[in-house]
Amino acid sequence: TKELGVADDLPKSRAASKGRSKSRARNELSIDEFDIGETLGEGSYSTVLEATLRKTGKNYAIKILDKSHLARKNKNSTAKVERLALIRLGRTHPGLISLYWTFQDDYSLYFVLDLAPNGEMQSLISRMGSLSLRCSRYYAAQMVDTVEYMHSKGVIHRDLKPENLLLDASYRLKIADFGTAKILNADVETERFVGTAQYIAPELVVANESSESSDLWAVGCVLYQMISGRFAFSGLSEYLTLQKVKQVDYTFPGGFDQNAKDLIQKLLVREPTYRLGAGEPNSSLSMSALRSHPFFDSLNWATLWTDPVPPIE
Ligand code: ATP
Repeated sequence: TKELGVADDLPKSRAASKGRSKSRARNELSIDEFDIGETLGEGSYSTVLEATLRKTGKNYAIKILDKSHLARKNKNSTAKVERLALIRLGRTHPGLISLYWTFQDDYSLYFVLDLAPNGEMQSLISRMGSLSLRCSRYYAAQMVDTVEYMHSKGVIHRDLKPENLLLDASYRLKIADFGTAKILNADVETERFVGTAQYIAPELVVANESSESSDLWAVGCVLYQMISGRFAFSGLSEYLTLQKVKQVDYTFPGGFDQNAKDLIQKLLVREPTYRLGAGEPNSSLSMSALRSHPFFDSLNWATLWTDPVPPIE
């Protein structure tokens, strides 16, 4: 079966019967080789299904994108960006949904991905109301570790939010949805993208400029939400939410952990270059300074992905 990283053949459509024989001739996978299970979710341009590759018995999530829908909405680049980002990120970091194969038929593009059977962080927060400090610290650390890796590969996610943080079989974090990522130094158009109001950084609202640091802002918003069960920034309308973001207008509920509060205050900073984690290596705002923040004192970064997952509470 064709491995990833070959020619970027995603958005081209093929003629009817020719398409199939052509893909068979190149020994690509096809959807017929999977047993399809339940629907895991629906995106704006996609449906994600649970599927088992019959010849190995291994389970995956298959994201199916409808070609004509993508073309109609002028979103071919979304699929292209997602594929390129996932290829660039590779399959080595445990905090990312890996891409195993892509293939297509006349109607659809197919991405065969790691299955995250425990769904979205958003559902977990909704179900639990909020998460314990220990859990919040654990997931914030997994976000930080994965975001640092992503940035080292030149990928800025731009839409980090609990809906895009998936949970694997052991409840470890896996970041998904790179369709709106910005890939640095890639031969692919970066679309203007505004993100999701509750997690969008002020520089995106004001100047539509995003950088690695915009992802750090989102880490701050997600940490706030895991601990408190509510959004850091939320107004009665999207416009009012964005006003609050621009003014960095948010407050902490009473009893909020002091170290968590201090960390969030160092992430939710208007000026992107002043956020903790956004500075040069060895500076007081470096990624290692972020990892050394007192909020993470009880955490062992070296065994972050192999330690038992804390009880979900
Ligand atoms: P939108 O287009 O609205 O931004 P999206 O791009 O997040 O949506 P998809 O990536 O298509 O949508 O995923 C839709 C939903 O399917 C996700 O929100 C998630 O619940 C589920 N899902 C996606 N990928 C996986 C996966 N690898 N394992 C399990 N569930 C998944």
